[in-house]
Amino acid sequence: MANYHPTDELLMAFSAGQLPNALGLMLACHIEHCPDCQRKMHQFNELGGNILDSLEPLALDEGAIGKLLERLDEPEPVVEKVEMLPGIPRPLQRFMPAHYDNLAWQGMSSSLKEFTLDIDDDRYTTKLFRIAAGKQLPEHTHKGNEFTLVMKGSFSDKTCNYHAGDFVLADTSTRHQPQAANDSDCICLAVMDAPLKLTGTFGRMLNPFMR
Ligand SMILES: [Zn+2]
Repeated sequence: MANYHPTDELLMAFSAGQLPNALGLMLACHIEHCPDCQRKMHQFNELGGNILDSLEPLALDEGAIGKLLERLDEPEPVVEKVEMLPGIPRPLQRFMPAHYDNLAWQGMSSSLKEFTLDIDDDRYTTKLFRIAAGKQLPEHTHKGNEFTLVMKGSFSDKTCNYHAGDFVLADTSTRHQPQAANDSDCICLAVMDAPLKLTGTFGRMLNPFMR
């Protein structure tokens, strides 16, 4: 079970359908395997429903009712059949062309590979990062927010250990140096609104290659 969760504000925004696509997808992936957040989502959804119920009903004109009835008659949209990728959260599956080992990972360094997911979002970029087992990334801070969901394996930074299902938010005040556990590569889903800014010596060398 996850030890680190999205904030209530994020869950509420998700419940209200107000999150950008990339972030909504990440929350859906976390919630799928988190009973705590499922419980909260249930409460927020009910709250939202009660607010809708308490609003004055809109006076619909005849034309609008006719259109609504027509829409109800329309056939259900065909749901795209998605081949199951075991161990990958269901909301993410349709965006994954293959399982982790068969993705066309791009090398950033020997310790860090990335794969960019094609998710329609104006503000955020969505990537999978793969940190090689036992490797530590150069120390870096963030120019903007970066939301991370651990998909597989685990990593640690100065104070915490993060495991599959954990949701982590790094912002401009976070300065860290994540290290993957020795037993396996760590794969994370990352949604970010600004490029990483590296701080160490190694970081300055790598920086020109970072987007
Ligand atoms: Zn949770």
